[in-house]
Amino acid sequence: MRDRLVILGAGESGVGSAILAKQKGYAVFVSDSGNIKDKYKDILSEYQIEFEEGQHSDAKILDAQTVVKSPGIPDTAPLIQKLNEKGIPVISEIEFAGRYNTAKTICITGSNGKTTTTLLTYHILKKAGLNVGLAGNVGKSFAWQVAETNHDVYVIELSSFQLDGMYDFRADVSVLMNITPDHLNRYGYVMQNYVDSKFRILQNQTENDVFIYCADDDIIQNEIAKKEIKPACIPFSLKEPENPGAGVSEKKLIINFNQKQFSMSILDLSLQGKHNTYNSMAAGIASMVFQIRNDQLRESLAGFHGVEHRLERFLKVHGIEFINDSKATNVNSTWYALESIPKSIVWIAGGIDKGNDYSMLNPLVKEKVKAIVCLGKDNAKIHSAFDGLVKNVIDVSSMEEAVKAAYYLARNGDTVLLSPACASFDLFENYEDRGKQFKEQVRNL
Ligand code: ADP
Repeated sequence: MRDRLVILGAGESGVGSAILAKQKGYAVFVSDSGNIKDKYKDILSEYQIEFEEGQHSDAKILDAQTVVKSPGIPDTAPLIQKLNEKGIPVISEIEFAGRYNTAKTICITGSNGKTTTTLLTYHILKKAGLNVGLAGNVGKSFAWQVAETNHDVYVIELSSFQLDGMYDFRADVSVLMNITPDHLNRYGYVMQNYVDSKFRILQNQTENDVFIYCADDDIIQNEIAKKEIKPACIPFSLKEPENPGAGVSEKKLIINFNQKQFSMSILDLSLQGKHNTYNSMAAGIASMVFQIRNDQLRESLAGFHGVEHRLERFLKVHGIEFINDSKATNVNSTWYALESIPKSIVWIAGGIDKGNDYSMLNPLVKEKVKAIVCLGKDNAKIHSAFDGLVKNVIDVSSMEEAVKAAYYLARNGDTVLLSPACASFDLFENYEDRGKQFKEQVRNL
């Protein structure tokens, strides 16, 4: 009898896993407790894959040999507990696809900067002519591509939830951008659990592999000091570069790697701001592992157009610049946004609080922010953090009101920054919806 593989969650990664599993000869069943999008239902039918929606039927799930779980389903879900009790392995899509993947992999994780660094690395390798695929949270799922495409290299963005379901997967190049508190509700509010999850990125790596990490991040440094790390460690930092390693010296970004040195002026990088210097360094080192020429790397780092909803300089209206940083869903990413923009700023913040501690923003807010527009159902924490620090902290209840209020409060030369430091689900579908509504309202001004 064929092995039974059950997939929980019929989104992009679930459907991709189903297609790959079917191709590899499993008896496949897909189960989603919500509604499955029509386009995915059509695809599952086309591939003759059995599925259910609106429920998880124990009888059809608990006899699986392997379960591939969507990263959105927490380990505490009753069904997952039952699978654990029965000893049925529950893995992530990347783990599953990794079993059949023969291409090299660059895996990128961190609390912030994953998508930007992933897309930038992909851009560099693609421009240099490599047969490269993009996977993870962006675009087509890894499993789907492993089933149907032949790439030589994949650049994969990995969240901690995806890493949690990974056991035997090995990255050729792992990249750890930073670790700051996030998603702690999924980690029993124990920071070390979250740190352990991020460090799974380098599990199974050997002496022939490469681990790229931010040396300015104390949490990462402390963890490295405790561990025996097998792959070649290549640090990046805003300080003088190590060899091997990347750093900044006299306003130049420098990478020392494989007996080669790369350098370019920080001012020529297309992505500006300290956080983006980190992102450029990480992507630069990862690309140099694949022997990219210096002139190609320089051209790509100078010509990358950035990513929507990440410090996206959208429009200037009467001398007021509007920046869409809707993807900033935690305090740390908002810190980098405020850090990279000169004063004065009218800051639109708020949404669903994920246990935020705003105190790290105080110096920047005091120095640069002239008004705060709170756009969330519950803004109490923002008020208690900033009421004494900023003269105008006002509440609004829609994006239209937020943009109009910010426009009214701003003057020629100011910046209106949407960088919520919170999740978006109270008033919006997701951060993309929030960013799109922001831009629409700015256009309407
Ligand atoms: P992720 O995919 O990890 O959520 P993104 O690249 O989408 O990261 O960026 C999300 C937000 O985080 C951006 O809007 C920006 O404000 C901030 N950010 C980007 N890169 C970094 C970094 N290296 N360190 C800290 N914050 C960053």
